[in-house]
Amino acid sequence: MAINNMRKKLINELEKKLEKEKKSIEEELQRFAKKDEKLKGDWDTKFPKFNGNSRGHTLEEAADEVEEYITNLPIEHSLETRLKDINSALERIEKGKYGKCEKCGKAIPKERLKVYPEAMFCLKCRR
Ligand SMILES: [Zn+2]
Repeated sequence: MAINNMRKKLINELEKKLEKEKKSIEEELQRFAKKDEKLKGDWDTKFPKFNGNSRGHTLEEAADEVEEYITNLPIEHSLETRLKDINSALERIEKGKYGKCEKCGKAIPKERLKVYPEAMFCLKCRR
């Protein structure tokens, strides 16, 4: 029972950590990406708008914007992947399945969860 309580306390702490991380990732994403309302958890990097009005908008500026878009794409992708992992960890907490390896079903060591709370696999099963 004591062990269960300790685990519960840890999960509580990690849940707060995950929620906080989720918020900061969403904030970061919002700076250059738009949430896809149709697809849950999907974000799209904003593509520079060229509205045909070239006044005040030099080709160079346009090229800069495209470059920025290209730079942002992989960042968006990795943030989005993290966000998905965090969301699924939060879901597992809710369902009481958190902290177990998705592959072998063994408990993931709390040391690992502390550094990587969204972990789905134990070190052995990690790809
Ligand atoms: Zn495992």
